[in-house]
Amino acid sequence: IKRIGVLTSGGDAPGMNAALRAVVLAAEHYGIETIAFRHGYQGLLDNDAVPMQAKDVLHILQYSGTIIKSARCRRFKEVEAAQLAAKNLDSLNIDALIVIGGDGSFRGADHLANHWQGQIIGVPGTIDNDVYGTDQTIGYATAVAIAMDALDKIRDTADAMDRVFIVEVMGRDAGFIGLCSAMSSGAERMILPELQKEKALTISALVKHIKRVQEIRGEGSYVMVLSEHQWPGGAVALSEQLEAEYHLPCRPCLLGHIQRGGPPAPADRILASELGVHAVELILAGAHRVMAAKSQNACVAVPLRETWEKKHPLDENLLRIQHEIFNPVKKKQQR
Ligand code: ATP
Repeated sequence: IKRIGVLTSGGDAPGMNAALRAVVLAAEHYGIETIAFRHGYQGLLDNDAVPMQAKDVLHILQYSGTIIKSARCRRFKEVEAAQLAAKNLDSLNIDALIVIGGDGSFRGADHLANHWQGQIIGVPGTIDNDVYGTDQTIGYATAVAIAMDALDKIRDTADAMDRVFIVEVMGRDAGFIGLCSAMSSGAERMILPELQKEKALTISALVKHIKRVQEIRGEGSYVMVLSEHQWPGGAVALSEQLEAEYHLPCRPCLLGHIQRGGPPAPADRILASELGVHAVELILAGAHRVMAAKSQNACVAVPLRETWEKKHPLDENLLRIQHEIFNPVKKKQQR
């Protein structure tokens, strides 16, 4: 192995820079050159390649975003695009490619592997944590910390005004950010994709819950975490409905892309550093079509296909705890 490629793809995630830095430093340690492709798979198609050395990745691990840029590239799904990418990789004599991104990016990596002979390794970088085979993805810890911080702040004003707040968090179709930010901030309720699939919450059941909580406590706030795409029209529509139809003072708050910025949490910097180095070591060990992952305290290699074919489940125990211990309307307590 003389030269490897690296790119960041899909939604940017705090810690992508730390992962890139680790890849470049580990490669240099083993005497391997690194070429970065800018703007994800688009860069592979445009041959937008830049050599990366240790000096280029100094002091970047404390910043979110990605210095080599990320992108979504629909065209990459086409066979011709993968063939063009393979041709470009070969023309630069690249032996292996590291793809830092989420499950969509890994599908792209697998697609490329059908048309290119080099080794391909994935590194899980997405705030959503919706990748099977790794306990956590790079970026998730930061997103939860940001959401928790916002929820704490919302609580202050919600409590002062005895208001209902609906805070919409990211997560694509996974409830990890919703569950853990709700739990760490003591939210009264959460609407998560996994729970909605099991039994969708109705507006009347929600109103009943809000009224019961307010009745038990006498006064106070009610903060609800809503995962994106889980209510028609989102937090804005739901809070308008609660005010207009049920006369509940309610405010929406959309955290949006704030969840992807600022300094990455220590856990993300450390995970990114570990998995970046692990990815390079997997290449040296001859691995191909796998994701460098951390599972039960060990660095492992997970077949790329499993990362999206299998579902990363929410922690059942956390769900139980959130419902049974932090929920103030447990039936027994109402007696
Ligand atoms: P996140 O969910 O955090 O945004 P992601 O990696 O899942 O990250 P996607 O937008 O799903 O983000 O995928 C990133 C890119 O991967 C796509 O823009 C596309 O270039 C490529 N990709 C996704 N799915 C496929 C596929 N089935 N075949 C080829 N390429 C794909």
